Amino acid sequence: MKRRVLWWFRGKDLRIEDHPFFETLSPDDEVIPLFIIDPYFFKPERAKEMPHRIQFLLESLEELKEAIHNLGTELIIREGKSVDLIPQLAKEWKIDQVFCCRWIEPFGRERDQRLSDALKTHSIPMTLLEGETLFPPGSIRNGSDQMFRVFTPFSKVCWSRGIHNKESTPTSLPPIPSDIKIHSISIPSLTQLKIERNPHIQKGGSSEGKKILHAFLSGPVSSYSSMRDRMDHRGTSRLSAHIKFGTLSIRSIWQKTILSGLTDDTRKFLNELLWREFSHHMLWEWPELLSTPFRQDFRDFPYLNNQEDWRAWLEGKTGYPIVDAAARELLTTGYVHNRARMISASFLTKHLLIDYRRGEEHFMKYLTDGDWAQNNAGWQWSAGCGCDAQPWFRIFNPITQALKFDPSGEYVRKYVPELSEVSNEWIHTPWLAPEDLRSQWRYPNPIIGLDEGRQRFLAAAKVHLKRDTP
Ligand SMILES: Cc1cc2nc3c(=O)[nH]c(=O)nc-3n(C[C@H](O)[C@H](O)[C@H](O)COP(=O)(O)OP(=O)(O)OC[C@H]3O[C@@H](n4cnc5c(N)ncnc54)[C@H](O)[C@@H]3O)c2cc1C
Repeated sequence: MKRRVLWWFRGKDLRIEDHPFFETLSPDDEVIPLFIIDPYFFKPERAKEMPHRIQFLLESLEELKEAIHNLGTELIIREGKSVDLIPQLAKEWKIDQVFCCRWIEPFGRERDQRLSDALKTHSIPMTLLEGETLFPPGSIRNGSDQMFRVFTPFSKVCWSRGIHNKESTPTSLPPIPSDIKIHSISIPSLTQLKIERNPHIQKGGSSEGKKILHAFLSGPVSSYSSMRDRMDHRGTSRLSAHIKFGTLSIRSIWQKTILSGLTDDTRKFLNELLWREFSHHMLWEWPELLSTPFRQDFRDFPYLNNQEDWRAWLEGKTGYPIVDAAARELLTTGYVHNRARMISASFLTKHLLIDYRRGEEHFMKYLTDGDWAQNNAGWQWSAGCGCDAQPWFRIFNPITQALKFDPSGEYVRKYVPELSEVSNEWIHTPWLAPEDLRSQWRYPNPIIGLDEGRQRFLAAAKVHLKRDTP
């Protein structure tokens, strides 16, 4: 039977290729692609709270519009609140069914429910498409039908299931039916949102994502295990923002990697995609994670939240070059190497005793790949309070980490220009250099001694958690 369907793009599926919508499409369907600009987010006051994500999203949206045009139809862009606009347009346009991708976050789930209820009053079904994750959230369970609390058995079940990708891409779509008034608005510009374009942010759009994936699978993936932790070397895929905005399909990344050959390195890379999967399934199972620690005994942890320490960490002026490089990489490029994220988060929450939620919020503001599930899981892991997190008593030593994972010092030199001329001898411990050298660098001394910070954290944890350090 001929249907008229609304294909609503939601900001995490900004692509045509391998979109799960096509699995549901019949040859006779009339299709109306739609994107909604919510004025709540697309206004200068809000946009400045996530400037890099906005930049990436707008670029990706421009490309999506073009790609849909090339299929013979049009992406209609309207302004409004989706919970009001979708039911209104669905009724006005005589839609038979609404399709959109599921959101995993609690606020997205609540919106989905409200929308589905509103559409029901017009007898219009809404279908939530899977595809943000490899497996539908909530579908990977242990023998007692519960969500896993440990990553390894979770990942084993994922591996045993395998990914059966049915996503496909048509070469054309029918034009918008003539009775529909398109009335599209134009995509807002950065200037309208009062955001200055940052030339160091990763470029958005599917074509760029495909290029990055191809380049990664053609070379760097073959040394992924040994190089992924090296901050002075580009050893990881840099796909995170494309995965976050769905400019690439996670399922086709998985499949293309498998097709490139299953080796220890490709397995390691796929395992990282499963860490992502784990974080999304956790948030689905425990939506409260966005506001509270997974470990109950970490609630009300006595963080000091010293304002001067916070500012030093934020601006990259702690006196620990590797921690400062991470802070400045974030502000300048919207990206931080995974190892640097871990070092920086450990330093903030343990050495400086600052609440992980403050760091989480700051990362969310500037990361182009800022994702609620992954960012929250990363912070809770680093703070030692998360599900299958690093043990609370394990405290990264920024110096040994730097010597091991930035042995050339190039990561620090790149992001901390005051130290760009410093030799390997002092690059990770500039405070140990002779006074005449230090005075030339104009770089701060450490704001806290490593042992002092470590002991302070362990003492606070011992009292609060009522446990001795093992
Ligand atoms: C404190 C902290 C905050 C983080 N915040 C985010 C975030 O907001 N968004 C985000 O995408 N990742 C986050 N991560 C995970 C990780 O740092 C990034 O995914 C990774 O650095 C992105 O670079 P890449 O694409 O080159 O990764 P690759 O090493 O090439 O990995 C491929 C993909 O696997 C996923 N992935 C890799 N490592 C992890 C991990 N540890 N946890 C979950 N997924 C992972 C990502 O989607 C990544 O793109 C965070 C980690 C920490 C410690």
